[in-house]
Amino acid sequence: MARGNFPTDRFSKWPTPFYYYDTTLLDETLRAINTQMQRHKGYHMHYAVKACAHPQVLRHIRQAGLGADCVSGGEIQAALDAGFPARQIVFAGVGKADWEIKLGLQAGIQYFNVESLAELQVINELAVECGRRADVCLRINPEVGAHTHDHIATGRAEDKFGIAMQDMERVIRLAAEMPGIRFAGLHFHIGSQLLVMDDFVALAHRINELQEELEAKGIGPVECINVGGGLGIDYHDPDSHPVPAFEAYFSTYATHLRLRPGQQLHFELGRAIVAQCGSLIARCLYVKQGTAKQFVILDAGMTDLIRPALYGAYHRVENLSSEGDQQLYDVVGPICESSDVFVRDHLMPLTRRGDLIAIRSTGAYGETMASQYNCRPLPKGYTTEDLAQK
Ligand SMILES: *Cc1c(COP(=O)(O)O)cnc(C)c1O
Repeated sequence: MARGNFPTDRFSKWPTPFYYYDTTLLDETLRAINTQMQRHKGYHMHYAVKACAHPQVLRHIRQAGLGADCVSGGEIQAALDAGFPARQIVFAGVGKADWEIKLGLQAGIQYFNVESLAELQVINELAVECGRRADVCLRINPEVGAHTHDHIATGRAEDKFGIAMQDMERVIRLAAEMPGIRFAGLHFHIGSQLLVMDDFVALAHRINELQEELEAKGIGPVECINVGGGLGIDYHDPDSHPVPAFEAYFSTYATHLRLRPGQQLHFELGRAIVAQCGSLIARCLYVKQGTAKQFVILDAGMTDLIRPALYGAYHRVENLSSEGDQQLYDVVGPICESSDVFVRDHLMPLTRRGDLIAIRSTGAYGETMASQYNCRPLPKGYTTEDLAQK
């Protein structure tokens, strides 16, 4: 049986599939982060909205006092709607459209994290046009490889993100001459689902070098250093590690990154904040005897959760209804794609049509990545509070 804290009797009243967000665990996670934020001077957390933008989840995060890290105009709007103050919103992304930049300018967001000279010039023009000045951090590509899946590494020379280190000084000097721009700091983000602290150590050392290089040239110290997000979670054993290793993560930066007096250090965690509090709840439609395999066919598919198909990601799959003998199953979805598989050769109690199945650790990059392929409806998301009401 699953050990996750599921109100299974309440689940049975809701049409599946849906996402369930355990907001008690979310609040516990947010408290753990705030404990760390208070321990270190000048540390600030902006939650990466793209991980999960469910309005209730955003509200809990807002109430804990975190800011928001957005990568689109839609996310800026979602953050504003959830009550995040504009001065606690930062905006990154390699391809910001004019309307998105204008939305950020008009709202008066804290920083634009700018990824190219071309983008900086457009932000300058639009800011001058609407009589504003944009506070800007430059996203630098630190050429730090990260121990993660190829598709979620972002800080290597061949990745599309950020400004090359050798162009940094030139872009800062150009920014200083732009009337619509105020240069405020440096931004980095090297990848996602990072569990090896050495990756963050490498980034901290690279930032130390860059700060010294800039100061030798008479630039800085800058107001803000933003190290992005990327801290991973335990997908294999969510019940043993429901709250990620925040202490090790923040103390890695405290030990290795040399902040200047008064300098602000920004973090942008997404996955580590919301992944463990979410589960995709589905039902078994059929158990099918194949020639070589037994298939558990769910009513949830890759349209609801694409991470296994997209990254080969692993999620724990648990039967919430059965305590029967263990069987070997391939757990699959109903979509017309061979990659619509959640897990292969998975040991699970004897499963029958109608059993409730939980796909664990899906609070991040689950609901936000859902699609309507096969004309399927988007999955709904319910929180602990929603289920308590009905
Ligand atoms: C996606 C993203 C994050 C969050 O990454 P996680 O791995 O979910 O912590 C932070 N900053 C930027 C710029 C991002 O694109």
